[in-house]
Amino acid sequence: MLHDIVYYGHPALRRKADSVQTIDENTRRLADDLLETMYANQGIGLAAEQIDRTERVCVMDLSQAGDREDARLEENDHVAMPMVLVNPAITAMEGKQLGSEGCLSFPEIYVDVQRADLVTVTYQDLENQKLIVKVTGLLARVLQHEIDHLDGVLFVDRISPVQKVAIAGKLKRLKKKS
Ligand code: ZN
Repeated sequence: MLHDIVYYGHPALRRKADSVQTIDENTRRLADDLLETMYANQGIGLAAEQIDRTERVCVMDLSQAGDREDARLEENDHVAMPMVLVNPAITAMEGKQLGSEGCLSFPEIYVDVQRADLVTVTYQDLENQKLIVKVTGLLARVLQHEIDHLDGVLFVDRISPVQKVAIAGKLKRLKKKS
C-alpha cells in the first residue's frame, strides 16, 4: 500500500525506532509498503519513520542510481537489490566520502554531507536470517542515512552551520507544511 511521506517538522522523524522482536506478516507488509512508497517517489531509500511507523526497518534500491558519478555500484555487486533491513546496526566505519544527499522527507533540498566511505552493517532479512555486509560508495551513504532515520537523526543534523544557513529558508517553508 502506498503511504504519504512525512516531511521535516513532523515528530515521527525525531522518534527512535523500536527493534522488531518477531519478523512476521506485519513486518513483510511494512517492507512491501516501504518499497512501494519509495518507488512511487523515485527514491533510493526509505525508513519506517518516514511513513510514520515505529519499527526498526528500512529499505533501499540503488539499481536506478547508476548514473550518479559517486555511485560505485560495481563495488557492491555482492549485495542484491532491493534490500530490506530489519534491526540494522552499523558495526564498523572506515574512511570518508563527501557527496550530495537528498531525502524524500526534504523535497528539493540537496546538500553535501560527509559520511564514512566503508561501513559494516548487521541486520536481519524477512526470513529472519542474521546477515552482515560490508559496503562502500553510495550504498554506504544511503545505509548511513537510513539508519540515522531509525535513530531519529536527519541529514541536516550532519551539515555545517554555514550549510544550514544556506537552506534555512527552504527548511522553514517545509516545517510550515508538515
Ligand atoms: Zn531520508
